[in-house]
Amino acid sequence: MQITQNKVVSLHYVVKDDKGTVLESTLDRDPLAYIQGTQTILPLLEEKLEGKKEGDSLKIRIPMDDAYGPRREELVAVVNREQFSKDVEITVGQEFYYLDDNDQMMTVTIVNVDGEAITIDSNHPFAGMDLNFEVQVVGVRDATAEELDHGHVHGPGGFEH
Ligand SMILES: [Zn+2]
Repeated sequence: MQITQNKVVSLHYVVKDDKGTVLESTLDRDPLAYIQGTQTILPLLEEKLEGKKEGDSLKIRIPMDDAYGPRREELVAVVNREQFSKDVEITVGQEFYYLDDNDQMMTVTIVNVDGEAITIDSNHPFAGMDLNFEVQVVGVRDATAEELDHGHVHGPGGFEH
């Protein structure tokens, strides 16, 4: 079965920066599952995967401007410890996730802790980088009516609810 609009696609992927450092990998967990055409993954990835089928492997290079864009220094800010829940331990390198006004998943990384002054970086962790994906198509199937209604995949690699 080929990857076309509204197919549920399961992928294993490794993404590396230009130095070959692995930034993220699914190889030690469930494959990522998404619905083709829902812009869940980077648009250029979706485009390159269109028409591929189970078992296909491909390398996809995504330049910074088609990935997460340049780093923006204005997204680095110092906030007070009070901004975070008291029972959360704050350590450098820790990531927090939240949905912005457009329902986009945003990441905040703690880059410095100086007493009550916490420096946060709201740039996407991959901002400022060209990304090199190695993708393996693990499965392709039709989405269920419920999945299409929700706009996401149910079950392994997707939403459990
Ligand atoms: Zn759902």
